[in-house]
Amino acid sequence: MTSIPDLTIPDFIRELEAYVPGKPLKALEREYGISDSIKLASNENPLGPSPKAMAAVGAALADLHRYPEGGGYDLTLTLARHLGLAPGNIVLGNGSDDILGMLARALLQPGDEALMPAPSFLMYDLVVRAVGAKGIAVPLKSLTIDLDEMLRVVSPRCRMIFLCNPNNPTGTVVTADAFERFLQRLPSGILVAVDEAYIEFVRDSRALRALDFLEESRPLVVLRTFSKAYGLAGLRVGYGLMPTAVADLLHRVRMPFNVNTLGQVGATAALEDTEFLSKTLDLVHNGLDLLWSGLDRLGIRYFHSEANFFLIDVQRDAGGVCEALLRRGVIVRSMAAYDFPQYIRVNVGLPDENQRFVQALSAVL
Ligand SMILES: *Cc1c(COP(=O)(O)O)cnc(C)c1O
Repeated sequence: MTSIPDLTIPDFIRELEAYVPGKPLKALEREYGISDSIKLASNENPLGPSPKAMAAVGAALADLHRYPEGGGYDLTLTLARHLGLAPGNIVLGNGSDDILGMLARALLQPGDEALMPAPSFLMYDLVVRAVGAKGIAVPLKSLTIDLDEMLRVVSPRCRMIFLCNPNNPTGTVVTADAFERFLQRLPSGILVAVDEAYIEFVRDSRALRALDFLEESRPLVVLRTFSKAYGLAGLRVGYGLMPTAVADLLHRVRMPFNVNTLGQVGATAALEDTEFLSKTLDLVHNGLDLLWSGLDRLGIRYFHSEANFFLIDVQRDAGGVCEALLRRGVIVRSMAAYDFPQYIRVNVGLPDENQRFVQALSAVL
């Protein structure tokens, strides 16, 4: 890497590596000289965006010369009504990634520690290290977040704990009961951030829904997003649910117009589009069940999941399997970077995409 002489770069920034997102479909098709490929790699909604969101975005185009509504008034109010919260409990983000960054900037300083499950979403470590704090990885147990181990390794320097429920990339959940015991035993002064990017897909009735634990005096933040079940990943809208005192802090480090005009109107319309949401959930649940019975018939080992994706044990180098699938026009994610060198992660697609995936995988294996 080149550098600029005399420019002092903080050590903790020098040591960072930029997040590597999944490559866009068009770029992969160009690289591999393929067309008509299917992407089951980024946990996106295979139905596309909510039609009501598309209409609302279209209608807002004539307003693009204006700055967005800085506080996201309509979207915040609509969310508050849907969730039975006060608007002061809600902070909007440019994706929930943005809220993760705000949490780190508002609450961590160099020398602080933050615990996070591993493997899990790579952004937690990135936002923590970007402010000079230290991320401590706590290994999963049976692919599930190990709350007991988190309590065991928590130190006096710990200020924050990230949980991902369901966990990406394993799709497992912690139960509400286990979470309640965890909160009881957690030392004071530590903020718990529960990332619920996939909560809409959960079918297990024992699973934690962290909103049930929200209280004005408890340092708990629940992160949600419009990127998955609502099909709006390209618009970049997420939100955090939290005590007003925490929201107050996040607003101090939030960029003024962090959620753009189209994001605000699109997300508001998507929230009202309950028909699209239930269609999405049906598609994902039926898709999972069919994919799993297909893999059962082929004798391929996979892991149950409460999200719209799941892991498959390919029992050989995952990178090679992904490469071979790619040549057949099927894009999935190797879990090598997540410490699972023989696992791939696949998300539910449309019925014909799921079928094509099972056929391609069976051919490759
Ligand atoms: C996809 C995903 C998100 C959502 O990120 P956005 O910035 O809202 O698009 C957050 N957390 C996890 C674990 C995810 O997989």
